[in-house]
Amino acid sequence: MTMADLESLKFGTDNLLPVVTQDARTGAVLMQAFADRAAIERTLATREATYYSRSRQEQWVKGQTSGHTQRVVSVHLDCDGDSVLYRVEQTGPACHTGAYSCFHTPLLDTEVQSSGLDGTLERVYATITERLASLPENSYVARLHAGGLDRVLKKISEESGEVLLAAKNADRAELATEVADLLFHTLFAMAEVGVSPGDVAAVLQEREGRTGLKGPKEAG
Ligand code: AMP
Ligand code: ZN
Ligand code: ZN
Ligand code: ZN
Repeated sequence: MTMADLESLKFGTDNLLPVVTQDARTGAVLMQAFADRAAIERTLATREATYYSRSRQEQWVKGQTSGHTQRVVSVHLDCDGDSVLYRVEQTGPACHTGAYSCFHTPLLDTEVQSSGLDGTLERVYATITERLASLPENSYVARLHAGGLDRVLKKISEESGEVLLAAKNADRAELATEVADLLFHTLFAMAEVGVSPGDVAAVLQEREGRTGLKGPKEAG
């Protein structure tokens, strides 16, 4: 891997470059905006994602008014130096509409069968923490929060029973649905208590690839 410098950047006739911003944790594309040289320099110096607003004709530090800041973990230029990728740790939603990503309006949307959860749990967790912070009307998360943690814990126990039943019946569609219910309410409880998917991943990864581990019950 070779490190580039600012001289390799090819700004357009408007002195701007498109910037694609990616969630470093999930890989999701969050937004696309523009940067001039000063914005790139400020991003590199401060590690706060900085852009140039074409509508306001001024430098724009993401989150300065919304608080939805982006901590930059890497900056890459593309093959011919005419666009840039910011990989960021996003606080709250990236889109000014409150959506996690700006790219939430499909023109075409055919589903690939995913092989795994592909960051879904992290995205759902991020949505839950955002809803807990803003408590919007009509939000299921806000209603769960209002109902208190004990009700949710009871719900988790009920969903566990439904998972168990679906598995016993070998009902694959029902099992997928019930596991999703269980995971969602578990993520909610984690968000309320302040345990992140990363905390869980750390435990799982510590055990990964080891055989002969004792289960939680056996270990006591
Ligand atoms: P923020 O940088 O999040 O404090 O938002 C400040 C202003 O920047 C907003 O009022 C919008 O005009 C604009 N803005 C914020 N996020 C986006 C985005 N993802 N895409 C385009 N414009 C944005
Ligand atoms: Zn290019
Ligand atoms: Zn947006
Ligand atoms: Zn259920």
